[in-house]
Amino acid sequence: MIATVGLTGGIGSGKTTIANLFALHFSIPIYIADTKAKELVANNKQLQQEIVALLGEEAFVEGRYNTSFVAQEVFSNKEKLDKLNAIIHPYVQQDFLQWKQSQQAPYVIKEAAILFESGSYRDCDFIIMVTAPLEERIKRVMLRDKIDRETVEKRIKNQWNDEKKIELSTFVIENREIDKNLDKIGIIHSKIVKMTAENVRN
Ligand code: ATP
Repeated sequence: MIATVGLTGGIGSGKTTIANLFALHFSIPIYIADTKAKELVANNKQLQQEIVALLGEEAFVEGRYNTSFVAQEVFSNKEKLDKLNAIIHPYVQQDFLQWKQSQQAPYVIKEAAILFESGSYRDCDFIIMVTAPLEERIKRVMLRDKIDRETVEKRIKNQWNDEKKIELSTFVIENREIDKNLDKIGIIHSKIVKMTAENVRN
């Protein structure tokens, strides 16, 4: 059985940047849960019906996901956000397991912003947590998504704080100077390969 490594971190911490390095340098298959969730919402009719039942017909305009409406509805209403995530999560989990079956590698990486909040960390063999100073994260996301500070802060507020996540993680990558990341990743990769090999032997 291939091991599952969960990779998470707060918004703008650099999860995708780090996940891509594992793929590029060590040929590790990566599953980006947020991207897959968007694909599933765009294409799965049953999932779309469940979202409409929660948020109303306005959630889709001419068959397309109305992201600005949905963001407005859920990012200032934690209960609705939790409900939406609870609807989407089982579809992503099923899709992930199906995807994993066709991968060949010592382990796969599942990158998810809400790995802990969704409870899916419990299905991971190891967890990598990416951290970066809060102020830097806010600036990175403002720049990347062309959104204002308030919008980023609102999204951050809905996530668990880093301390709580670090406690439950196997490895922590502090993502500050970008050129230091490859060394850190190399060490973690070797450790995971060793641990998975030991598990297979036992
Ligand atoms: P989200 O949760 O919003 O999906 P993320 O955690 O996946 O974000 P990335 O998209 O990897 O974060 O990084 C956020 C932005 O910060 C990107 O534009 C990325 O290029 C940049 N970035 C990542 N790491 C660093 C770093 N060490 N120094 C400067 N910029 C960085």
